[in-house]
Amino acid sequence: MDKWQIGVFTSVDAGLGVHLDVARELKVPTVQIHAPHQATRTQATADGFLAKCQAAGITVTAVFGGFEGESYADIATTARTVGLVPQATRAARTQEMKEISDFAELLGCNTVALHIGFVPHDESCEDYRSLIDTTRDLLDHVKANGQCLNLETGQESAVHLLSFIRNVDRDNLYINFDPANMILYGTGDPIDALKKVGHLVRSVHCKDATWAEESQRGTGWGAEVALGEGDVGMETYLSTLKDLGYEGPLTIEREIAHDRERQKADIGQAVGLLEGLRAKLLG
Ligand code: MG
Repeated sequence: MDKWQIGVFTSVDAGLGVHLDVARELKVPTVQIHAPHQATRTQATADGFLAKCQAAGITVTAVFGGFEGESYADIATTARTVGLVPQATRAARTQEMKEISDFAELLGCNTVALHIGFVPHDESCEDYRSLIDTTRDLLDHVKANGQCLNLETGQESAVHLLSFIRNVDRDNLYINFDPANMILYGTGDPIDALKKVGHLVRSVHCKDATWAEESQRGTGWGAEVALGEGDVGMETYLSTLKDLGYEGPLTIEREIAHDRERQKADIGQAVGLLEGLRAKLLG
């Protein structure tokens, strides 16, 4: 595969991603997909989706899990509802994530990914130990499918995430780095964070955001904006990825599902921005 193939975050029938048609129209060669609803995670769905991808010359590079009941309404709600961390849904969601891994295998995809949630800070607490066990159990299933699991960044600082991954201690746990999330959640400067976790980064999101007011950081959202218009600094981001030896896809995310026209226009502009930077930095 060529270095830094451009991609788009898409969905089959669930989640914030754009429809595959957008990737096709923009002639983007890779996609990550948000896993479809349980009822449509079938061989027939996988075959149909793959046939469309193959006809358009598109490769699926990762399948993201997501669950009923998750809400990103504000940071407190996100902490309460997202990922494997909430205890009431942990067992059911872990089972569902295993099924998503099985669906990814039907797509011939060797990478699954998710927001694990807000990992507890007290590493000696029962909840933290239990989350480690849950993650290991999931990783063993994912490994049997020949896959790795990439954790989305944002909800943890780089240091906290690294410590969690070290404690899980499995060889198929990596990172999907999202620089905008570090800003949105107020968990740290994205470039500093990338330098700290870079050796574990196996996939990335190209997304941009502006910081919340200083007094609101960590409690109130920053704002997600079109690529190049936020505080990430796309050239610095890509040159840092280059320095780290990252050669995988650059997957564009634009999370404005309520405005599909603008979403498509912004993604088109992002493709142009990334193509320009790729030509400049990789020659
Ligand atoms: Mg992301």
